[in-house]
Amino acid sequence: MVSTLSRKYWERKSLIEKRQNRLSAYYIQVYNNNVIDKFIKDYLNDENAPRPTQAMLYGDLYVLNKPEVYKQYNRIINSKYTSDSALQNMILRNKADARLNTIVETELKRINKNLDYTEKVLGTHELNLKEYQKIAQREKAIANRKNIMERSVKDVDFIRSKFGINIDSNVFTYRDLDITAEALNRQTQMGSSFDEYDAINQEARLNGLPDVYTEKEWIWTNEGQTTRHSSNDGQTVGFYDYFQCIHDVTGDVEPLMYPCDPNGSFENTWICYCQFRAF
Ligand SMILES: [Zn+2]
Repeated sequence: MVSTLSRKYWERKSLIEKRQNRLSAYYIQVYNNNVIDKFIKDYLNDENAPRPTQAMLYGDLYVLNKPEVYKQYNRIINSKYTSDSALQNMILRNKADARLNTIVETELKRINKNLDYTEKVLGTHELNLKEYQKIAQREKAIANRKNIMERSVKDVDFIRSKFGINIDSNVFTYRDLDITAEALNRQTQMGSSFDEYDAINQEARLNGLPDVYTEKEWIWTNEGQTTRHSSNDGQTVGFYDYFQCIHDVTGDVEPLMYPCDPNGSFENTWICYCQFRAF
């Protein structure tokens, strides 16, 4: 079990990271909303108005995500432990690029699905643009656009329906991006933490020394609304071994290299505020 001092340190660290995640998730959500708002306006002016190009969306998301990802990896690259190995710097930069790419592609997919949903709504329902814009302006910048669309359609069908806009929900779904962005950022933070410990070990090996970090410990931070990993608190394994992550609700056990390991299942790695430390 973790000592009280160590527990306090990690709780504080996790809280700071959570705030940073939220800020970056906020920017992504606002971006998604601006894309949807502009698309609705263009479409209602001209039904053949093109959707934003993939290249443009990709480029914008790249720019929005880059500072957060590179901040994580630059910390390792500029650390005194790894500064004199050009090869390692290159490996870490490649890791940062790969991570950035995954994040952007995941978010891009989500925005495209939101555009599909919006296009379907506009093609089947009569939406009052002035009303939509009025509500959007009154609400927060991150307010859910699906909700605003539902409040701005004029159809009798909609009024009759208990379920809001009648769109095949299996095919067309609308989801906010802030959760996606936050989960992806958590994965980057845990991944770069692991890479940092690993880089220090590699550096030691290059100098003919034994690994600095030989073990790691799972830390459940009690953050967020989930207690699914509480029984993993204090689990200690070899640094390059897998944690046997227990899902408290289902009882399933899954090997994870670290909390939020992107190779793990959605159930265990999405929106998890656990931490780990190596020693
Ligand atoms: Zn967790």
